Amino acid sequence: MESSVKLTFYGGLNKVGGNKVLLEDYAFNVKIFIDFGINSTEFSQTRSNTSKLTEVKQLTESHVLPREEDVPIQNLYSKNFIYDHTKLRYREKVDECENKTDPPSDLDGILISHPHRDHYQGLSFINRNIPIYAGVVTKRIIKALSLCSPPKFENFLHGLKWIRYRTGNMINIKGLEIYPVHVDHSIPAAYGFIICTSAGIIVYSGDFRMHGPLRLMTMDFIRKVKEISENKEELVKILICEGTHINKGVIESERMVKQHLSKLFNYMLFDYVLVHYDRVDWDRFRTYINIAKKYNWKFIITEKDAYFYNRLNKKAIYDTMKDPNIEINKDILILSHDEAKLPWKKGLYDLLERDDMKQRRITLEDLKNLEGKFFLYFASNWDYNKIKNFLPTHLRGIFICSNIDPYAEDYRFYKNKISNELLERGIPSYRIHSSGHAKVHDLIRYINEIKPEKLIPIHTNFPELFRKLFRTEKMEIILPTREVPVNIGG
Ligand SMILES: [Zn+2]
Repeated sequence: MESSVKLTFYGGLNKVGGNKVLLEDYAFNVKIFIDFGINSTEFSQTRSNTSKLTEVKQLTESHVLPREEDVPIQNLYSKNFIYDHTKLRYREKVDECENKTDPPSDLDGILISHPHRDHYQGLSFINRNIPIYAGVVTKRIIKALSLCSPPKFENFLHGLKWIRYRTGNMINIKGLEIYPVHVDHSIPAAYGFIICTSAGIIVYSGDFRMHGPLRLMTMDFIRKVKEISENKEELVKILICEGTHINKGVIESERMVKQHLSKLFNYMLFDYVLVHYDRVDWDRFRTYINIAKKYNWKFIITEKDAYFYNRLNKKAIYDTMKDPNIEINKDILILSHDEAKLPWKKGLYDLLERDDMKQRRITLEDLKNLEGKFFLYFASNWDYNKIKNFLPTHLRGIFICSNIDPYAEDYRFYKNKISNELLERGIPSYRIHSSGHAKVHDLIRYINEIKPEKLIPIHTNFPELFRKLFRTEKMEIILPTREVPVNIGG
């Protein structure tokens, strides 16, 4: 079979987040994108430079998303996705997207590796005829996040054509075989891909770690790569590997987060703990709930958190996703701080009206007067602003910034602005965390196990470092330029 494959990177090079990799395989006549994320820094810069975001053009002109004329794809973007809040055409746009009135596209699909926005958020703008391949739980999390996010255009997923996969499935696109396999990351439902192209095996690592509670999943991925490589009797041609922490040699794990919290709790001198981490970080949530249970503390989350976790609980297959269970866990209290009748709340009303749940609901006024021994969780700046004036002043509290992966501007915000503000209120800060990304020693181990002929670093601020770290190896390190195709075989 004639082989000619091209990889073009439209995001995620020389920076963390925003992966968008176009794979074109001419022998199979297939074009797919691997991830279609938005880089949060690029997005917020565009947002602050633009009076109001209403069109995809504003994002393509600033290269947050690729310009249609720079991508060899017909009708990449939806003609309908956009709506103007001032004209209240929301329902009309939903109908248009759901009725798939977009013209046909020659893109055969978009593979989504995991439900972090820097890997999927561009989907809002995609032509509704393009199939979106996502893990079963990956899709569930993306939809739950969208439903409990403000109805802004970057959360507009109506009418997308989802095709769901699980580990063990093989995706076949016109004969091109793709194997999605789970990996451990700071969010459930993260995958890497093994793609059997006409030019050889291309492996896409996705975001992963090897020090988390589900580290064996990453080992499953490596095992599958080896199995396919042996069966085909060929080496991995290309490894597209994330390198968020290629520059950092920290030894840490989720278990250590638990141990550090336990140390604090063995001599607990505080009445409450204000805590922040990413809402989608299920492992971190489980760690904190375990500590709350062990030391007989309550754990306060908002209605929105309850809604999100309840959606994950409901259809969970794995026990790890069923527990903590929002409906029955008596250590969890639910704070209402927003009376607005938002669409996502409909899914929560019945649950919250149950007698046993009513006893676990508190208001901001209750919060102010609570006696101690509780965690108060906030997921966002929005939540923080709601609660900050209701923190109990008769108690001694601390803030634990447990946010993962301090590469986003978010991190600096929480660390500096919120920490300083809380300090003025007499609340000192702690930092207890563990990252969602493999450390330098784990990255080297991972790459050595996969043994690719060529390596393309992605999702890293230090791509050049790969060249230096692997200078004695035979492996070629390719550092592509954004939007310039890399030819493989053919
Ligand atoms: Zn991620």
